Amino acid sequence: MHSKTIAELAAGLKKGDFSSEELTTSFLQRIKQFDPELNSFITVSEEHAMSQAKAADAVIAKGAATALTGIPLAQKDIFCTNGIKTTCGSKMLDNFIAPYDSTVIHNFNQAGSVMLGKTNMDEFAMGSSNETSYYGGVKNPWDTLTVPGGSSGGSAAAVAARLVPASTGTDTGGSIRQPAALCGITGLKPTYGRVSRYGMIAFASSLDQAGTFTQTAEDSALMLNVMAGFDEKDSTSIEKEVPDYTANLNQDLKGLKIGLPKEYFGEGLNADVAKVVEAAIEEYKKMGAEIVEISLPNSHLSVPAYYVIAPAECSSNLSRFDGVRFGYRCDDPKDLEDLYKRSRGEGFGEEVKRRIMIGAYALSAGYYDAYYLKAQKIRHLISDDFKQAFEKVDVIMGPTSPEVAFQAGEKSGDPVSMYLSDIYTIATNLAGLPGMSVPCGFSNNLPVGLQIIGNYFDESRLLNVAHQYQQTTDWHKKVPETYK
Ligand code: GLN
Repeated sequence: MHSKTIAELAAGLKKGDFSSEELTTSFLQRIKQFDPELNSFITVSEEHAMSQAKAADAVIAKGAATALTGIPLAQKDIFCTNGIKTTCGSKMLDNFIAPYDSTVIHNFNQAGSVMLGKTNMDEFAMGSSNETSYYGGVKNPWDTLTVPGGSSGGSAAAVAARLVPASTGTDTGGSIRQPAALCGITGLKPTYGRVSRYGMIAFASSLDQAGTFTQTAEDSALMLNVMAGFDEKDSTSIEKEVPDYTANLNQDLKGLKIGLPKEYFGEGLNADVAKVVEAAIEEYKKMGAEIVEISLPNSHLSVPAYYVIAPAECSSNLSRFDGVRFGYRCDDPKDLEDLYKRSRGEGFGEEVKRRIMIGAYALSAGYYDAYYLKAQKIRHLISDDFKQAFEKVDVIMGPTSPEVAFQAGEKSGDPVSMYLSDIYTIATNLAGLPGMSVPCGFSNNLPVGLQIIGNYFDESRLLNVAHQYQQTTDWHKKVPETYK
């Protein structure tokens, strides 16, 4: 049961092969068995899950089920959940219970899915290895000495170990695609504005976007059907019709134009990873796709621009954690200033403090033009590169990450080398485009991800391009031995 996709589980529920209560119990059991080692959950909401499962079974019995009714899911601990702790991976929010649901959670509740718990993540979604979490690192199920990627490492590891059929994540610079690649599963980051950010704790508001971790592209489509849509509570959510994302999953790829940016295959890309990605592209050629060499000439500026813009936005967003309104408060403050300083000093971890300081510096009078404004101009150039590319091609492909999962501790003392993990994913966020990572093989027995980038709001095509590949290959079906 645990290795079935959402689509297969929904069919089983409908036929009465098992109930949602049985399904939920069996996944909770797997979490109990395996998660003490993996650490992919911060909170397991067993009672809540069982009552949702019971309610879902009643809906199924009435014949009123939709695709996600009764399906167990895990939610990244960045989405506010009414009555259930939301920590964002931080000591700052270790005691925070939101009084409302984020829109994403609300939508899943409406769809009748079952929340098994909240997954581990880098603190405030800052990181690429899950090692900045206050709740400790997450282990990669493919090799527990390696990291699962980040910041949505718990969500990715939980799906890879089949502790849950699917989960949510957020992607500000790569935090869905990179962990999906490192854990050998399918990750989708939709177009900026496609999914509401309401109740999703903000890191860098102009980049943050919620998305999915699944076994298959078909399941990503089922999840996106529930998540996508305009929300008046999010001023950057876009009022645009939501198509049925599963409706387009049977188009053949003859004549599809795939752009390969030469900047994504150069220096810095591990040679074995390159071979695996090239083999995946060969597979697309066999399916009738045409390959077009393209250039994204400002790619090399994406990491530096991101590390000005994201910290600037984070320094402003995180100013609300002041020890007064909510979150951690230090003991015995002497006065107000002491309260602010010690609450923030003790509540935030090192990486978060580093980002707040960089951001405050970049936004300060006198430096604003030199850093923030310049980074915004570069962001424009990067978007223009993509615009030009999409005049010639339908999708863009390349590696998701320059290397496979690295050892825990290997990069934690070296922020710049950690930041380079997202060298192929960050530009997409700066431009606001949708992107996926699809499992496409192994190097050193660790999974490799193929990144597919689409044009704005072209998720249907993106999902079909991934789905067709999963019809002719079975990389997405591979499960680490222990979790089979
Ligand atoms: N790894 C990047 C960072 O640390 C991206 C994180 C994310 O997408 N949330 O900022």
